[in-house]
Amino acid sequence: MPDLYIIKLGGSVITNKDGNKFEVKENTLKRIASEIKKASDEEKFSLVIVHGAGPFGHTNVKEFNLNNGIFSDKQKQGCKKTVKDCNFLDSKVVKALADQGIEAVAFDPNKFVKQDQKNVVEFPTKEIEDSLNQKKVPVLYGQMVPDKSLNYSVISGDTIIAFLAEKLGAKKVFLGTDVAGLYTTDPKKDKNAEQIPLINKDNFENVLEKASEARTVDVTGGMKGKLEKLRQTLKGTTALIFNANETGSFYKALKGQEVKGTRVVL
Ligand code: ADP
Repeated sequence: MPDLYIIKLGGSVITNKDGNKFEVKENTLKRIASEIKKASDEEKFSLVIVHGAGPFGHTNVKEFNLNNGIFSDKQKQGCKKTVKDCNFLDSKVVKALADQGIEAVAFDPNKFVKQDQKNVVEFPTKEIEDSLNQKKVPVLYGQMVPDKSLNYSVISGDTIIAFLAEKLGAKKVFLGTDVAGLYTTDPKKDKNAEQIPLINKDNFENVLEKASEARTVDVTGGMKGKLEKLRQTLKGTTALIFNANETGSFYKALKGQEVKGTRVVL
């Protein structure tokens, strides 16, 4: 099989996360899907796409208090709504990819992943691997999944990426978000934030200390959460965090061309 690349479409890119609205950014999705298609026509790689949930996940999780167990009727209803909303967002992503000729296949984590105390305990990948062997593109996403202790808990797109990168031996991970990588402080809050071009073993701890949680409604840890998850599993895989709102950035990243961003090599 050709090298495996894993792509993340950040919730901040494909939804109106900043405005905290249940809106899908269809034009952005269309542009990114066409960039992915063009790069995959020109280069040989297999691909898994993971996307975040933006408000479709985070806002519901906050509103219905879904982050520490699903026990009351209100929480159960909120959980059902969240699952439905995340599936709706995913259907838009899969359609945008299919419209550009990418053979995308949705894998709803709610149907096959299990957690215990918010940690993954079951994540079978045979069907994902079968799909890859058939040259299809599995699409996974942040979602509520069954949890042995909590009934249901959140799995973030970032957790899925970290898990799959290790399990499937991804060669490269591309994290498309709405800022050009990791900065010394949150670049949306601090004009003087400095971009960090490379994170490796030498500066990891230092950078982690400074990366704060996401500015917007995000229950899964923002940039800090991303880094922590990458550290757990990112051995031998390189990751690039970059601004996917910049036209052409996904195409260039997948082609191995220079893109402004943070390279993570651990
Ligand atoms: P996504 O939804 O794209 O996965 P997140 O919302 O989880 O992205 O994280 C991206 C956000 O993290 C950015 O919009 C930024 O405002 C925030 N952030 C906080 N601290 C930092 C930092 N040190 N460097 C870069 N971004 C940061």
